Amino acid sequence: MSVKVRFAPSPTGMLHVGNARTALITWLFCRSQDGHFLLRIDDTDRERSKAEYEEAIEDSLTWLGLNWDEKANQKDRLARYDEQIEFLKESGRLYACYETPEELSLKRKSQLSRGKPPIYDRAALELTPEEIAKYEAEGRSPHWRFKLNHAPIEWNDHIRGEVKFNGGDLSDPVVLREDGSPLYHLCSVIDDIDFGITHVIRGEDHVSNTATHVQMFEALGATPPEFAHNALISDAEGGKLSKRLGSMSIRDLRDDEGLEPMAISSLLARLGTSDPIEAFTSLEPLIESFDLSKFSRASAKFDPAEIFRLNAKILHDTDYEDIRQRLQAIGRADIDRPSWEAISPNIERLSDVEDWWKVAKGPVEPIIEEPEYIAEALAQLPPTPWTEDTWGEWTAKLKETTGRKGKALFMPLRQALTGMAHGPEMDKLLLLIGPEKVQNRLSSKKAA
Ligand code: GLU
Repeated sequence: MSVKVRFAPSPTGMLHVGNARTALITWLFCRSQDGHFLLRIDDTDRERSKAEYEEAIEDSLTWLGLNWDEKANQKDRLARYDEQIEFLKESGRLYACYETPEELSLKRKSQLSRGKPPIYDRAALELTPEEIAKYEAEGRSPHWRFKLNHAPIEWNDHIRGEVKFNGGDLSDPVVLREDGSPLYHLCSVIDDIDFGITHVIRGEDHVSNTATHVQMFEALGATPPEFAHNALISDAEGGKLSKRLGSMSIRDLRDDEGLEPMAISSLLARLGTSDPIEAFTSLEPLIESFDLSKFSRASAKFDPAEIFRLNAKILHDTDYEDIRQRLQAIGRADIDRPSWEAISPNIERLSDVEDWWKVAKGPVEPIIEEPEYIAEALAQLPPTPWTEDTWGEWTAKLKETTGRKGKALFMPLRQALTGMAHGPEMDKLLLLIGPEKVQNRLSSKKAA
């Protein structure tokens, strides 16, 4: 059987971490199975759906490297939905309801106060023709519900294992609004059938929806696809995802946090699985190691610090050739290979190169707390041309002539040369700064 999956975002907002994880899991599964990936835009809610969100979602997916083989918009399929809705009405699986939202909310409250689950009571099935005529005369239009069979519903979930529901424990889902427009549930099922979807992968917040969908597939004469419901992401303490990163869109993570797409994917692909979280510079190894059965049913804990650690590691592992264009784009085409290799082990975000470039090219404010030692260091500077060994030769000599070692030997030099107490390895940095500036900084000349 060839695999066909879909990722089905609603274009009512940006792509966030949680949804991006579902997209990534779906995509990795698909690519690991040589499958076909459908991007389905769930835009039946015409009021809340916006073209700019649709574009932003596509842009975020593309940036993450998640391509699709086919795209469909639900708004273009309304005629097809009508056809299937007619069929379900004729076969007695849809029924008209006239309750207002206020009446429904009252019913729910009264059920809850009596300790009963808030399941729709099917009062609409008892309406007499006179009562219906009265509602219609008042100008009420019905919404429509799908009539669930009160029978067991079961499936073998690729992540959750055996899942069991009873139709009688669920409310008949509303599938058509008062204005006649179809809602997500039925449209999703009709699409999954028409597009030949073999595996539906989505968040566990959809598990009870799936139970009702299973009966819709059957009512439309189709065999339900396979299902996998991934556990949602929680913060490190197991609570709801923090405002800080959890509420951030992928676009914010790119633009405001300066994260690399592979830092996000490296984390999201392995979070909540039995595989270790590692920094990857391409999606390939994630495809190769992907297996739905490695995902846990327990919520996946998201630690923001981890994503920055991965980001730093990925930048460190990125070859100069692969970063050149990005450096150009941030106006740092002047960073060459040796400079990149000196700087990259010290940055957390690409934009940090700017700080290191400033240290190298100046001006810096040298910190000179031991002028005699620094004067000695200036006198002992090795002759040019310098190599990566120059730093070692210089400090070995200083060790000999001053008897200094360790921190007392290195720190004053670092502070004089960079104006800071931490930073890139000095052997590489020394070359970046260059002989002229090194001399100026050691003699504390301004604008060095
Ligand atoms: N538009 C739905 C959502 O974003 C799709 C769920 C599904 O995958 O069926 O939650």
